[in-house]
Amino acid sequence: MREVFVPKSSTELWDMWGSYPNAQVYAGGTDFLVQLRNRKRDASVIICMERLEAFKGVQQQQNMIRIGACTTLSHVLKEPVIRKHIPVLATAIRRLGSPLIRNMATIGGNICTASPAGDTLPPLYILDAVLEICSEQGIRHIALKDFIHGPGQTALMKNEILSCINVKIPQEYQIHHFEKVGKRKAMTCSVASLAGLLKLDHKGVIKGVRLAWGAVGPRVLMSEKVERSLKGMQLSAESLENAVQQGTEIFSPIDDIRASADYRRKIAGNLMRRLVRHVQPDAGYQIRPDTRIRQPENI
Ligand SMILES: Cc1cc2nc3c(=O)[nH]c(=O)nc-3n(C[C@H](O)[C@H](O)[C@H](O)COP(=O)(O)OP(=O)(O)OC[C@H]3O[C@@H](n4cnc5c(N)ncnc54)[C@H](O)[C@@H]3O)c2cc1C
Repeated sequence: MREVFVPKSSTELWDMWGSYPNAQVYAGGTDFLVQLRNRKRDASVIICMERLEAFKGVQQQQNMIRIGACTTLSHVLKEPVIRKHIPVLATAIRRLGSPLIRNMATIGGNICTASPAGDTLPPLYILDAVLEICSEQGIRHIALKDFIHGPGQTALMKNEILSCINVKIPQEYQIHHFEKVGKRKAMTCSVASLAGLLKLDHKGVIKGVRLAWGAVGPRVLMSEKVERSLKGMQLSAESLENAVQQGTEIFSPIDDIRASADYRRKIAGNLMRRLVRHVQPDAGYQIRPDTRIRQPENI
């Protein structure tokens, strides 16, 4: 017999956790319930967070965007503020699962699952997302890059939840890019993914760059060395090739049912080589030096 509680406020949540300290929480259940069904997880008492309105919604406060952790991915995607200011996240969400999955799955669940293939993670890494962690005792903040320790491992302590994701609007970057390679075009986990933010001057010289790869290591990978090697260079096949050569040492993928480690390593490099193609005008980006955001329309 399993008991399920559905609190409607954080007070109710803390009360329930007080009565059942070993209860496990879930939000959309698209990872949690699958693991329960496959007997990869055991829980006699579970708390469903889908009615906690306090942890839902997207708000812009000056140059910060706050995303409630229990907001579904469909909801995040519909928000004009997300599409306008952080299209790199919108594109990643569009590529995650299917509309049915996105209607249930939450952004907080994607983060707390801490899968190396979690599609919202590379964009949130390059956006330097800061997480708000909530417990009955209060609130603490932690950078996303410090929150995820490894596959399925986070800095969450007992009876804490992720309540909110804070992202500063990246004013300085014109190009937001996300590409994912999976076994199929849709409804598939990433074999490798790349999220990027780029600032180019009117001659195509890279003035700023942030890159993060998913699914090619135990956590999302970023490389200061790669970013340094690109800064000040013309965005070209040559400069990207040089950066790929500098960067491959950071990739430490695994062999699994989706792909071999070698294949993932190759894809991770190719995703970067392909940046030059994606930043061409016919890729759907609006290339104007004074345009703050460019977004591919065809994904
Ligand atoms: C068919 C299918 C396709 C999928 N495709 C993709 C894909 O393409 N890309 C991808 O990245 N993922 C994919 N997923 C995985 C999944 O949908 C996502 O990871 C999703 O975002 C999880 O969110 P959720 O709300 O359902 O999490 P849940 O299943 O509710 O929870 C997942 C974990 O996070 C914890 N948790 C959830 N919310 C919180 C919180 N606020 N605070 C503390 N802990 C919390 C739970 O305890 C649990 O351990 C897929 C899943 C399915 C079933």
